[in-house]
Amino acid sequence: MAYDDNNVFALILAGKIPTNKLYEDEYAIAFKDLHPKAPVHVLVIPKGKYMNFSDFTSNAKPEEVAGFFKAVGKVAEQLGVVEDGYRLIMNTGNNGGQEVPHLHVHIVAGKKLPV
Ligand code: 5GP
Repeated sequence: MAYDDNNVFALILAGKIPTNKLYEDEYAIAFKDLHPKAPVHVLVIPKGKYMNFSDFTSNAKPEEVAGFFKAVGKVAEQLGVVEDGYRLIMNTGNNGGQEVPHLHVHIVAGKKLPV
């Protein structure tokens, strides 16, 4: 399977779909989920073209992997959810329920989440 350059997050990264970026650095950007499942629901995506978690861990450079996860931590801090807690979700592939084929982490927070 090849990376789809027309997936919605690729278009956001390319600036072809306008998005209110909450965070940006060399490795990642973050923006609010279009259909929030909790009071705080933010997506963090790497700037590199990786389809999913397995593609990322297999093919990204170590500095991209580190940079991306550090960005996730910074976004959680910026959102002010560290003290009360939050959930990270990475849906991967068909059985994982992944809809957009560009790696993304959901940061979900702002209420006690069901187990
Ligand atoms: P997945 O199911 O792939 O893990 O999650 C994809 C997420 O992307 C969904 O929660 C969906 O609401 C969100 N999403 C889909 N299209 C857009 C969009 O154009 N803009 C934003 N901000 N979020 C989107």
